[in-house]
Amino acid sequence: MSDLIRLLPDHIANQIAAGEVIQRPASVVKEMMENAIDAGADKIHVIIKDAGRTLIRIVDNGNGMSPNDAVLCFDRHATSKVRTADDLFALTTKGFRGEALASVAAIAHVSLQTRREEDETGRSIVVEGTKIKSNEACVCPIGTTFDVKNLFFNVPARRNFLKSDNVEFNHIREEFERIVLAHPTLGFTLSHNDVETYHLTPGILRKRIVDILGKGANDRLVPVEEKTDIVNLTGYVLKPEFSRKTRGEQYLFVNDRYFRDNYLGHAVNKAFEGLVAPKNFPGYFLYLTIDPKKIDVNVHPTKTEIKFEEDKHIYMIILSAIKQTLGKYNVMPSLDFEQETSFELPYSMKNQPVVEPEIKVNPMYNPFHSNSGKGSSSGFTKAVSAQGFGKTAASTQDWENFYSIEDEVKDKQGLLIEAEDEAYAAKESLIKDKFLITTCRSGLLLIDIQRAFERMVYDELFNRFISNPIESQSLLFPVERNVSKQEHSAWEEQQQMLHRLGFQWEMKDDTLQISAVPSVLEQETIPACVDLILEEIAFKTIDKGDIAHLIVRSVAAAAGRKKHQLSGAAADQFIELLFACPEHALTPSGKKIMQTLTLDEISNRF
Ligand code: ADP
Ligand code: MG
Repeated sequence: MSDLIRLLPDHIANQIAAGEVIQRPASVVKEMMENAIDAGADKIHVIIKDAGRTLIRIVDNGNGMSPNDAVLCFDRHATSKVRTADDLFALTTKGFRGEALASVAAIAHVSLQTRREEDETGRSIVVEGTKIKSNEACVCPIGTTFDVKNLFFNVPARRNFLKSDNVEFNHIREEFERIVLAHPTLGFTLSHNDVETYHLTPGILRKRIVDILGKGANDRLVPVEEKTDIVNLTGYVLKPEFSRKTRGEQYLFVNDRYFRDNYLGHAVNKAFEGLVAPKNFPGYFLYLTIDPKKIDVNVHPTKTEIKFEEDKHIYMIILSAIKQTLGKYNVMPSLDFEQETSFELPYSMKNQPVVEPEIKVNPMYNPFHSNSGKGSSSGFTKAVSAQGFGKTAASTQDWENFYSIEDEVKDKQGLLIEAEDEAYAAKESLIKDKFLITTCRSGLLLIDIQRAFERMVYDELFNRFISNPIESQSLLFPVERNVSKQEHSAWEEQQQMLHRLGFQWEMKDDTLQISAVPSVLEQETIPACVDLILEEIAFKTIDKGDIAHLIVRSVAAAAGRKKHQLSGAAADQFIELLFACPEHALTPSGKKIMQTLTLDEISNRF
């Protein structure tokens, strides 16, 4: 019987290896940017066409390569960074496996132009599917330029597996951000289809973080600093009130390399325990400096998972350093999680400075008088209109109401610090605003008003918005929100859908200025709505099909957060309308709208 084992030809071995290192265009960007940094570049340009499908170009002003190295670099295990096995335990470079270029060359058309300072002419190489197609002298600046075209041209399965341009570019941006955050002293640009997304000048870390998060971020950062024998820790955490529902702003770096680590991430979460709302994630940018001998970067082909020799100690160091920071900078928010509120602002808004009413209030609105029922010619169901849905009327009365309500609020605040029993009474009425109680065959039915409203608004909006644009309500004074680059472009990407829903805005660099909103939104719910939408579209990788659902869901969730006043006929109508929704038991995000208290359960209580 003949032997069964055969060695794979190089091009197949490279393709298989490529699958590990290069999963998508973003992987190419990461590997090439890292190479540029290893080559000592301090200006690195990343130029992308069609989310990397058509072109990924990385231009650096680093050391360049000799004509020989320019050919050799495409070989597997070709690296200038590791010479002996010992080097592996004292890595100071990003790359060392010598796999990236061989992998890219196996699955794309690559051209390279490179020149060292000491060479008069540069070298230009073209490689297609591992084969060198041309190799000649050329005129080019010092440094290296790689062009990667037709990625996965010979691996259709991979090519078909790529997501929409939007999703793929988000991955690229993510890798880019991780690298630039690790190297604030280097200059970078990123452009996509000739639009410059980032233009980052060298500077201090704080500036770099702010460049990524948006101008408003400066005030949100609190420095962390801890020097120990095991590890040095520096960086920033975001104040607790800026925690998010998604993990978007969580960054760990070790020796200037981004990495993921659930265990150490847990240390940060633990330090924030009790300070951020349940299910929210604190933001952090933490930089560990540690003796390279004490970590193993080699555990994963993309090097984003790292083994630490002393991870338990590092865990404790992170935990205590952040706790100290939060104490020292006195950023413990005076939030009371027990407090029952029918108007649940996201935590990100709760600690924002109080905005003076004359700046933010829109006289077209009567935010506190939701039973107006005026101007319900919008075609919305009557009961929904009675809830303020689609109303457009304005009157001077609204202003008067506004001031009288404001007084009332002040009075209430006085009340709270008075006798306990009065405070108790106030709480009871809140409970009444929050739930509707009605009888049903098996007992009592409790309906969460806010969630029910969310469901109704969602159904109305979604059905209408498919056939017609939603009516919009102009704001006399625009609502502003600071946005990061990522949020900025995510918002612009959805502009068609957002316009259709009734949003109008102006985008100025890092400020989103909203001038009109879907008429279902009350003034007070607009900031929450923008937060929710951005949360959905900017931080998660979503598929196109879901976007309408997610955006409408956010609008509905925000709309639900207004104050509801339901009594008598309005309550009956409300319940009727709720049951007219095909999915009346759950909110669009799957939360329970109602609970029954059966007769048995009730009897057991007596
Ligand atoms: P590694 O980075 O693990 O060494 P790569 O396949 O990424 O492996 O790169 C192979 C080699 O090519 C590097 O070790 C380096 O010598 C050279 N190289 C790659 N990119 C550049 C660049 N932008 N400038 C100079 N040299 C480079
Ligand atoms: Mg490399």
